[in-house]
Amino acid sequence: MIKKKQIPISKSIGKKYQLVKGMKDILPEEQPFWSWVKNTIEKVAEEYGYQKIDTPILENTNLFIRSVGEDTDIVSKEMYSFIDKGGENLTLRPEGTAGVARAYNEHGMVNLPQPVKLFYYGQMFRYDKPQAGRFRQFYQFGFESLGEAESILDAQQILIGYKIFQRCGINTSIQINSIGCEECRPIYQNLLTDYFKNIKNQLCEDCKKRLTKNPLKILDCKEKKCQELMTNLPQTVDNLCDNCHSHFVKVLEYLDELEVPYILNSRIVRGLNYYTRTTFEFWESEEEEGRQNALGGGGRYDKLIELLGGRPTPAVGFAVGIERLITKMHDSDFTPPKSPIPDVFLAQLGNEARKKSLKLFEELKKAGFKVAESFAKNGIKPQLDFANRLGVKYSLILGQKEILDGTILIRDMDGGIQEIINYEKIIPELEKRLGKKQ
Ligand code: AMP
Repeated sequence: MIKKKQIPISKSIGKKYQLVKGMKDILPEEQPFWSWVKNTIEKVAEEYGYQKIDTPILENTNLFIRSVGEDTDIVSKEMYSFIDKGGENLTLRPEGTAGVARAYNEHGMVNLPQPVKLFYYGQMFRYDKPQAGRFRQFYQFGFESLGEAESILDAQQILIGYKIFQRCGINTSIQINSIGCEECRPIYQNLLTDYFKNIKNQLCEDCKKRLTKNPLKILDCKEKKCQELMTNLPQTVDNLCDNCHSHFVKVLEYLDELEVPYILNSRIVRGLNYYTRTTFEFWESEEEEGRQNALGGGGRYDKLIELLGGRPTPAVGFAVGIERLITKMHDSDFTPPKSPIPDVFLAQLGNEARKKSLKLFEELKKAGFKVAESFAKNGIKPQLDFANRLGVKYSLILGQKEILDGTILIRDMDGGIQEIINYEKIIPELEKRLGKKQ
């Protein structure tokens, strides 16, 4: 029997297929931006000694419940979870840190020299309300440094993120805070409870619940009416224990030393439960609106590895949303270099020439030339039109007559001048004309 909501497959036949809501195609014209971002991440990772890790898109649902936290929006509202055919409760990962932390424990990385420095890049899934800058499948990259508690690592992580944005032509505003530890956070939470108690009725329904469960989460609320109530908040930094205070001051001193600008912001508490001490976000501007579309964020998560069954292991990391980063690259008129123009275009006329061109194409590539072709086209004109559109400087033209004579035509695409050259001399002739020894 077909369940109420299921659409029988036969009914969908003949319908136009469209993207699933909240998903996005990345078309060829967008690819240079994606390649630029990917290459930049890999380069910066190498400069700072981070190694790549790929974790599966599917993880056990409990991993996210335990790490991200049951009371968070991500876990309570946004996860794509399902029971598989074997009865396992699985989830499409909504974020990357939990998987990295699981892998750290599962592969005994605690026995490696610490810190273990890892980076990742991949799709995340959240059943979010689709809107500008918010998708249901989106890409994130992240950097994680696991195994050391020193504040210098927090500062270096912020620097890494800041640098990646800069190399993508974007100036970000770094918003930084410390949410303390298990010792001092409850004191601050009590202060927050006192602050919001008298204005409880003006809070949104979610925040009313947060007030009893975890008032810190109110600071992360996206509702305007709640945000307007936060003008005179008690400051987190004034209420840290000595250890957390000294850790935070050192992070700021390192950032000063690196000349990385930042803004202290008590409201940066991050939505995920696993954070401790330093929390930070990369905003597109200093104004409060920057918060709605934060480009990325992160912080310390000193308890997560232990929470997932590992040995006590401090760690710090951040993640950036790549769609938002690329939108910002467009806004800042940053143009990544296009893929290089081919050195030469190979045109052919007639069956024999087409066959021979196929081999010549391979030989030219082997000799180190970047070659373009349009083997599926028959006439010379459409082939040369295509070569012109690519912007190549020279075309080689092989026809029946040239095959019989053991020659080939070389055409200067700027002036249209064509010369006959010996087939055997193609490679040295191209090297001479292109001014390079391949
Ligand atoms: P979070 O894991 O929530 O701290 O998010 C880190 C970054 O991922 C954000 O700053 C965004 O750039 C990006 N991000 C989070 N959720 C989405 C989404 N639904 N669509 C697009 N990007 C997102």
